[in-house]
Amino acid sequence: MPEFSLPDTFVSRLQQILNKDDYQQVLHTFYTDRAVTFRINTLKADVQPVLQELAITAQPLQWCRQAFWVDAPMREHITLSPAFAEGRLYIQNAASLLAPLFLQPSPGEEVLDLAAAPGGKTLMMAQMMNNQGRIAAVEVVKGRFFKLKNNLNTFGASVVVPYLKDGRVVGWKLPGRFDRVLLDAPCSSESRFVANKPESFAHWNERKVKEVQRKQKKLICSALAALKPGGLLVYSTCSYSVEENEMVVQHALKKFKDQIVIEDAPLRLPNFRPGLLQWKKREFDPSMSLAVRVLPDCLMHGFFVCRIRKLTTTPGSGDE
Ligand code: SAM
Repeated sequence: MPEFSLPDTFVSRLQQILNKDDYQQVLHTFYTDRAVTFRINTLKADVQPVLQELAITAQPLQWCRQAFWVDAPMREHITLSPAFAEGRLYIQNAASLLAPLFLQPSPGEEVLDLAAAPGGKTLMMAQMMNNQGRIAAVEVVKGRFFKLKNNLNTFGASVVVPYLKDGRVVGWKLPGRFDRVLLDAPCSSESRFVANKPESFAHWNERKVKEVQRKQKKLICSALAALKPGGLLVYSTCSYSVEENEMVVQHALKKFKDQIVIEDAPLRLPNFRPGLLQWKKREFDPSMSLAVRVLPDCLMHGFFVCRIRKLTTTPGSGDE
């Protein structure tokens, strides 16, 4: 392995989060290129003509329809293609596909995407819903909001209505309204670190992790407020920190006591690990093991994803 350059504190935290074998494997991925995954946008094109037009051999992802991967050196071939420029395909890391797959939105439903830009997951959900129903896509950063709007136009996602708003308040203004909510939370982006690109982790420190956790706690409560009884929330981040993952979900369990439960994943892959049950003397609810920490590999960057169901009745209320 080349000379080590990731922040020491980050590496030692990773060592505490993962078991010995996983840790060695995960460390290796910070030094290696990843395959390029892309999704054909069936709102604008059929799968086979796009593949033929690209004139390359792309491998299908077995667990996600309309998604394919090619080796890293083929990236430019894809990004310079007319299909890419015209929104007939979208490049999206394989781990990112998991959030919409865990949420399973259907045509006709009302969905909230509470931290949406640049919109990769929003676009995938529009596709899963066949542009039927409604997706409210919220983004607070102006520049990113316009990037989101632009992507919605390019990709023909007519079911999406974008809002330049703060997700921390949106849910409280529309309580109990949505069938499904995606909170792909702003995070410290630890899974985007690349060992030979110090700029990818220059911003990182433990204080920043705590800072972003405070925002994530507010966002998850807003997301749950917006959810209908019986509705489903998916919470995801691209960080390894327990502070940004299990601790945020545990906070939601405390705040929405008896109103929500963690649900099992609809999909299991070899690089999935269960959510932790304890971290630095803190104990988490036993159901946290149903949350998924996705280990990075040759296709996926690291990811955390958790399904949370809002109950229709409160246990013990006598009206079940
Ligand atoms: N889901 C997006 C996708 O797949 O393309 C990526 C979302 S990114 C992880 C998180 C986004 O949340 C960023 O665009 C960030 O600007 C936005 N954000 C940060 N704070 C927010 C807030 N209070 N309300 C809404 N969005 C926020």
